[in-house]
Amino acid sequence: MNVHESEKIAGGLANLGFQPVDSREDADIIVFNTCCIRDSAEKKIHGHIGELKNYKKNNSDLIVAIVGCMTQQSGATESLKEKYPFIDIILGTANVHLIADKISEIINAQSSKRLKIYENVSPTLALHETQPPLRNSYPNAWINIMYGCDNHCTYCIVPYVRGGERSRDPDSILNEASALLADGYKEITLLGQNVNSYSHSGWNFARLLSTIAELPYKFRLRFMTSHPKDFSSEIIDVIFAKHNICKCIHLPVQAGSNSILKAMNRRYTRESYFDTIQKIRSRLVSCAITTDIMVGFPGETDDDFNDTLDLVQRVRFSNAFTFVYSPRKGTPAAQMVQLPASLKRERIMKLIEVQNQIVKEISDSYLGNTYEVLVDGVSGEILTGKTETGRVVNFIGAKELLGEFVNVHIDKCKASALGGHIDC
Ligand code: SAH
Ligand code: SF4
Repeated sequence: MNVHESEKIAGGLANLGFQPVDSREDADIIVFNTCCIRDSAEKKIHGHIGELKNYKKNNSDLIVAIVGCMTQQSGATESLKEKYPFIDIILGTANVHLIADKISEIINAQSSKRLKIYENVSPTLALHETQPPLRNSYPNAWINIMYGCDNHCTYCIVPYVRGGERSRDPDSILNEASALLADGYKEITLLGQNVNSYSHSGWNFARLLSTIAELPYKFRLRFMTSHPKDFSSEIIDVIFAKHNICKCIHLPVQAGSNSILKAMNRRYTRESYFDTIQKIRSRLVSCAITTDIMVGFPGETDDDFNDTLDLVQRVRFSNAFTFVYSPRKGTPAAQMVQLPASLKRERIMKLIEVQNQIVKEISDSYLGNTYEVLVDGVSGEILTGKTETGRVVNFIGAKELLGEFVNVHIDKCKASALGGHIDC
């Protein structure tokens, strides 16, 4: 989601006549689009901002902007201003689309003293649709179908920094998708914190998905993120009915223990999660299912953690993003008694070990078969692409195949990617 938001920021700067450069040394404007979902992301961004002090010393015209979710936390703007007085612009998640206007204001300011702009508005105010993105992920194009979240999982800062759920008008989504496909994009990924609860003027997610899938082009359709409590049979039916909706579903489970799921306010149980997986697999036989899982949530006992391992072994996720829980200020879980870091580390290592073995076994099952791959990267004579199930495949081919669908026979299987050759 942040990647696409950065494309929108780049779009605003391109409108002003600026172009992307490869290194910070060559930049006239540096914008950090921040994330504060986890402590690790926040720490990383502080390191990057700190480094800019020297860049500013060498180039006093350099404009530094810090935008996005981190600036939206209570007290964050004040503390950023104090810690890094060289920052020129701070904008929150709801007014980040004004970045180009703010940069113009600074450039055009008559005063000999550099104008500073620190503005933060309520995260529920904007839909960000006004920003034409400078897309950087051909042949895939991201489309936001909604913003914010109403779920209030007890560990999560998103509803506080991005506001409540707002769905976009289906007409504007369809127009955006049609224009992208007419421009030659071959894959559309619909984005939202919980796409399953999309709702606008009588349209639900199943209807939106089905209508986009019917656009008259050859393309793949993906979506993320789904919430297990809202993943309906109707959505499974639509995926089954439309050959171009990828049989690849990201369904974050977070934990395998009912008491932890309850404490997280996820509003499903391990049994209902298994039930959803069973429904998906009985209808969409070769469907890949991926997930997000957290360890070390407050109160997680050995038994709770073993329930998570057990769930992972039973479901056999094609891929899992694994996280160590980190308390986020202002969320209910941050007030609970925290587990020691050493225990969290031990658990994440164990979880990764179990999941890696599953990924290896699933990858091995691709060997000797041929898959349709959409080519999305070129490096010399090596092409990279993805199967419908989201597996990365490397193979030799002509660079003109970027954005094309090709059949690739898989003959190698490494930890990070499959290898193969074009099957004529
Ligand atoms: N809307 C999506 C998730 C968005 S955040 C959903 O409901 O699944 C992406 C992932 O970050 C989450 O799935 C969760 O696994 C992780 N995450 C969120 N808050 C976290 C925290 N405080 N500590 C560690 N991981 C967290
Ligand atoms: Fe955060 Fe939960 Fe909303 Fe996902 S569904 S963004 S985890 S509050």
